[in-house]
Amino acid sequence: MITIKGKGVSAGVAAGPLYFYQRASGSIPRYQVEDRGTEWERFKAAQAKAIEQLGVLAEKAREEAGDDAAMLFETHQMMCEDMDYEEAIQNAIADEGLNAEAAVFDSGEFQAEAFAAMEDEYFSARAADVRDISRRIIGILAGVVEGGIDSDVPVVLAADDLAPSETVQLDKSKILGFVTSGGSGSSHTAILARTMGIPAIIGAGDQLREEYAGKEVVIDGGEGVAILDADEETYAKLMKKKEELRKRQELLGQLKGKPNVTKDGHEIRIYCNIGDPKDVPPVLENDGGGIGLFRSEFLYLNCDDYPTEDYQFEAYKKVLSDMGGKEVVIRTLDIGADKMIEYFHLPEEENPALGNRALRICLNRPEIFRTQLRALYRASAYGRLSIMFPMVTAVWEVEEAKKMCEQVKAELDAEGIPYSDHVDVGIMIETPAAAVISDRLAKVVDFFSIGTNDLTQYTLACDRQNNDLGRFFNPHHPAVLRLIKLVAENAHKEGIWCGICGELGADLELTETFLSIGVDELSVSPRAVLPLRQKVRETELGAVKQKLIDELMGD
Ligand code: PEP
Ligand code: MG
Repeated sequence: MITIKGKGVSAGVAAGPLYFYQRASGSIPRYQVEDRGTEWERFKAAQAKAIEQLGVLAEKAREEAGDDAAMLFETHQMMCEDMDYEEAIQNAIADEGLNAEAAVFDSGEFQAEAFAAMEDEYFSARAADVRDISRRIIGILAGVVEGGIDSDVPVVLAADDLAPSETVQLDKSKILGFVTSGGSGSSHTAILARTMGIPAIIGAGDQLREEYAGKEVVIDGGEGVAILDADEETYAKLMKKKEELRKRQELLGQLKGKPNVTKDGHEIRIYCNIGDPKDVPPVLENDGGGIGLFRSEFLYLNCDDYPTEDYQFEAYKKVLSDMGGKEVVIRTLDIGADKMIEYFHLPEEENPALGNRALRICLNRPEIFRTQLRALYRASAYGRLSIMFPMVTAVWEVEEAKKMCEQVKAELDAEGIPYSDHVDVGIMIETPAAAVISDRLAKVVDFFSIGTNDLTQYTLACDRQNNDLGRFFNPHHPAVLRLIKLVAENAHKEGIWCGICGELGADLELTETFLSIGVDELSVSPRAVLPLRQKVRETELGAVKQKLIDELMGD
């Protein structure tokens, strides 16, 4: 029996084989081949497999988002068989005796550079497509698995850490839980695990060894413990805990349909955070009052090229109509920093968390923003949409973004395309600057939603991705809590609502504090809705209220 200790970031117990996530190594193998004919056959087989994979992706995209979305994959299928591309690869293998991986890489790069040099925007954008298909074929040649998991049975997934672009592509039906050696509680692997309602442990360090692959493991995401080859007694104890948790969840089910109101009548809205239209069923199952944060960048992370207006429209429309008239707050693109997307070709930065990200990218590249806003307003006709901008630091940014909303609405009017007249526009408060000037920002928006993951990172100058910073990353720090109080007060002075959509919203230790401050909404992972409702309903604010506020503001 081997015990691995880390930090539990998503509660629950799961048992299954330990499986290490498979990803392509960064370097492309390059060597000379003796048998050039066989090497050509290797390429042809990988090319056929790539075309087959793209066909599956095209069908999936068609089902989920219509013909336009499928077209991208169909174009990639054709590009795989492009005569010039294939001829260049053949020459590299037959004439130079290169191995197939290197031949594909060199030929792809040559074509991509030629495309990139073209003046025409359409053709220069094709450079990303060639690189993408080359990467796919090289991945197949190197035996890398689509989605990182090649197993017939569900597994406990182990990895050093997973990038957001990797987490979105995972085949979720195969995952029982996560164990990572790196990561942090507010990293996107942890957030994904909580959204999926499965146990997860991060920060296991070098205790997590590849040689354990295939061993039976039981993980306890509450305690942050993974046990390999558990003895009978330990296994039985953990299974008992699993059953208790299931029963507790069942009991919490009795709270469905009940209001989130304290014993002395303070009410709060409890909404959910999602990253994909497929996350809506758990929101409804757990009786979420709405969606307080749809991280729209996950749609972009899931694509190999800029998602089209129609593709996005279908996704937003699906979420809005599935939510049946309940409020849905969709956050505009929040990439950069830890969420990188290759086809954006963002330059490398010394300090990406402080760099070109989120709303900054949207304002600097208005065409991308305009496409998203058009899709959002078109979808607004199908439900109750609110739009939210991330990473705001100044009033002018919001004004410029709102101006673009007005332009998009005018365009839709001119084209006779319907949209709702009641779309609220709000912002995330994630930077100390935004919190400090929230009195001014409150005058130009309809609501605030506090992103405590980033607000903590920026207020405490503490990287949210770095698990080694451990106790220094403290969202309970009075500086963070005082900023939250300030933001809520400034919101209320202007008659707008203020919510929390960072991970702190689900922290039951702070529920009374948030109620005392007068936070109007908490947006949490679907599984956290009912425990939070229970906590609210057990609370009697009364005397606690002033005491908590005094504690926060006192010495
Ligand atoms: C946050 O920063 O708190 C937030 C909700 O956004 P994200 O975690 O996606 O950065
Ligand atoms: Mg954030």
